[in-house]
Amino acid sequence: MTTLIVGAGLAGLTAATALAAAGRQVTVLEARDRVGGRTHGIEVAPGQWADAGAAYLGERHTTLKSLIARLGLVTTPTTTDGRSRFSLGGGPQGSEGRFPPLSAVALGQLFDALDDVTRLVRADAPWLTPDAERLDRISAAEWVGHHVDHADARLFFPLFLGEMMAADPADVSVLHMAFYLKSGGGIRYLNAFAGGAQEDRVDGGAHQLSELLAAKLGDRVLLGEPARVVEERGSTVRVHTDRGVHEADALVIAVPPLLADSIEYRPGLPFRRAGSTTVPGCAVKVHLVYPRPLWRDHGLSGWSVSAEGPLLSTVDDSPPGDGVGILTGFVTGREARQYTALTLEEQRDTAVSQARRLFPELPEPIAHHITDWIGEEYSKGCYAALFGLGDWVSFGPHLAAPHGRIHWAGTETSTEFFGLMEGAIRSGQRAAAEVLQAYVD
Ligand SMILES: Cc1cc2nc3c(=O)[nH]c(=O)nc-3n(C[C@H](O)[C@H](O)[C@H](O)COP(=O)(O)OP(=O)(O)OC[C@H]3O[C@@H](n4cnc5c(N)ncnc54)[C@H](O)[C@@H]3O)c2cc1C
Repeated sequence: MTTLIVGAGLAGLTAATALAAAGRQVTVLEARDRVGGRTHGIEVAPGQWADAGAAYLGERHTTLKSLIARLGLVTTPTTTDGRSRFSLGGGPQGSEGRFPPLSAVALGQLFDALDDVTRLVRADAPWLTPDAERLDRISAAEWVGHHVDHADARLFFPLFLGEMMAADPADVSVLHMAFYLKSGGGIRYLNAFAGGAQEDRVDGGAHQLSELLAAKLGDRVLLGEPARVVEERGSTVRVHTDRGVHEADALVIAVPPLLADSIEYRPGLPFRRAGSTTVPGCAVKVHLVYPRPLWRDHGLSGWSVSAEGPLLSTVDDSPPGDGVGILTGFVTGREARQYTALTLEEQRDTAVSQARRLFPELPEPIAHHITDWIGEEYSKGCYAALFGLGDWVSFGPHLAAPHGRIHWAGTETSTEFFGLMEGAIRSGQRAAAEVLQAYVD
């Protein structure tokens, strides 16, 4: 009984590991020349790593936490001690803590309105939410126009959605926004560092999770094998890649929906997994590297939020110990699309100038790294697919439902912690359990 797995991200490698542990033969086909997908490490100085992809995790990410422990990795807290900087109209302003210097009443109303719409959604099956059709036909931009009238709340909303989902409010339906927030544990949990979803990082980088899983699977993981065609013939399934044809009894496709939809299926599938309204998430990560976390000498946390880009927020992602200081800048949503149209030199210059304006106490960084996920052929954006108008109602019921011998994994097939590493791992476990149950050796 053999199973092919397409995609060596956390979802595919989790499924492969579980199947191999149950004594099944597995082969993982990965398009890139590396494993890890949307987790990716950059060595910013010898032995010092930054997360170019996923980084943050919290207490509720239970399967991720147990994987970290099982692989012998440890976490380090995300540091937020000190004063923050905000540039929300006018020049940069300092402020204690992370709360922006905007009307507390206006932001309270915004969060109450978000809580109300989030409460309406069925997290286990968003397409079955009462009134799902209507909520799936309104964009988050239209929704905020109807529900929020204070200028401060309207200013803050796209920054919030950019930070939480790498989304431009015009691109996602209210149903998707509300589902994403609910699936991740609610607005306050998702948005929080201490006690929330951004509390910790994997020491040394989240990419190590996939690398360690792949190392245990050994030569069962094949790199440089993009799946182009999937053929179901009787009791076998075949995957055609650029290097050849692989055959098995079952298949798990563990890639983002836009990429799964671009594979050719023979015979064709009755349902699509993404469409013209499905938008790749828009995020660019900019790492500015300093000899050490110099902002801490000035009582600063490194946290900033700006209404004008490119860096809409920055956070201290320095490794623990006496190593380099890393300030990570997030360029998200519409801003990310404009930013990626610049030359590499312009990208560097605009990011560094903004850091100098926000933190005039700091010298120029000694190095920088820019990771553009929009241009990544085998990710199609990030943090996760953004479901636009009508997508949940059309595609939702089919995202995780097996079709013949084809099973589906990937964070976008998980209704728990959708879009996050935790969702990816849970989806891999679910797909492996399906295969184990459906096909007996
Ligand atoms: C910048 C950024 C920041 C993020 N921040 C966080 C965070 O802080 N916390 C968090 O929990 N999550 C975060 N995420 C999201 C997290 O990375 C993803 O949810 C998770 O890694 C998805 O895993 P996956 O296995 O479902 O998909 P992927 O990681 O996308 O894996 C899919 C794999 O399939 C491969 N592939 C694609 N097409 C084919 C094909 N045709 N044939 C063969 N292989 C193919 C890809 O190369 C890839 O390796 C972030 C992501 C990014 C990019």
